[in-house]
Amino acid sequence: MTVLVGLIGYPVKHSVSAAFHQAAFDHMGMRAQYLLWEVPPEDLEEKLKELREPDHLGANVTIPHKEAVIPLLDHVDEMARRIGAVNTIVNQGGHLVGFNTDAQGFLTALRGEGEFEPQGRRAVLVGAGGAARAAAFMLLEAGIGTLAIVNRNLDRADALVQDLERGQKGRKEAARGGQEGRTTAYPWEPEALARALDNCDLVVNCTPLGTRSSQWEGHSPLSAALIPPSALVYDLVYNPPETPFLAEARKAGARTLPGLPMLLYQGAASFQLWTGRKAPVEVMYAAARRALGLEKGS
Ligand code: NAP
Repeated sequence: MTVLVGLIGYPVKHSVSAAFHQAAFDHMGMRAQYLLWEVPPEDLEEKLKELREPDHLGANVTIPHKEAVIPLLDHVDEMARRIGAVNTIVNQGGHLVGFNTDAQGFLTALRGEGEFEPQGRRAVLVGAGGAARAAAFMLLEAGIGTLAIVNRNLDRADALVQDLERGQKGRKEAARGGQEGRTTAYPWEPEALARALDNCDLVVNCTPLGTRSSQWEGHSPLSAALIPPSALVYDLVYNPPETPFLAEARKAGARTLPGLPMLLYQGAASFQLWTGRKAPVEVMYAAARRALGLEKGS
């Protein structure tokens, strides 16, 4: 029997997950097919019913479902529950279990390819959805000094700050707006943006702005004028490899970290959860680079 696994999102056309997971399954000689499942919010519940069938290994979950999927699962692992977002589902004999591999992928790439140690530094996250939750959680775990969360919808940023405060028991520094603490929500407005970004060491785009083949193609969350030249600029968007945000960062003279290494690390961890086998990371990396047009042939 060929088993099925795939990416649940809306949209998913830009994704290279199918290319690199399929390469991994083929390399390991496993009869599995990785599919891209474009699922609008109203069809999410129905899609999860299908995932319980015996020929389904599970799924990855992406924009905009990482939070909405949680109440539809049978069990959510401790870290994903604390983060409040699931990006990997495993079908365990008809029971759906949720995990978050984005979090470790985010930090591994930040410390590895980004050569950035969060301890005591100042970070700004743009966005407050599922990916921002994972990033914020890991930055706090790694001892970030201050964390600013800028979002179009301020209530969502506030909710994330409150959850982080609850998660970081005993730490009372979270605050909103003017009274700034360790974790602060900011509205997406020029004056607040400038205040949040002033002298920061790390800026992370956790929105889909810039994603190829989407309504967000060609857009950058920030312009060069707002980016501190001494900051590391990390774009979680990985397609195209040179995003508009990374181009703005280069204009500002800042160091950049693209989203591909995180994608690989979170994907390798998902693969291991579905199969119980160590992922062939080199094979996956080469396949992702080919899918992004960074390498020729196969
Ligand atoms: P999500 O949960 O749906 O959150 C989306 C976030 O983007 C929200 O904060 C939303 O703000 C904001 N946003 C959406 N459209 C916007 C716009 N036009 N202007 C300003 N803000 C906008 O999605 P997610 O799962 O966090 O994913 C976010 C991005 O990260 C996606 O592009 C995803 O592919 C990428 N990602 C990459 C990796 C990787 O491995 N490289 C891993 C995870 C995610 P509102 O709250 O105001 O709607």
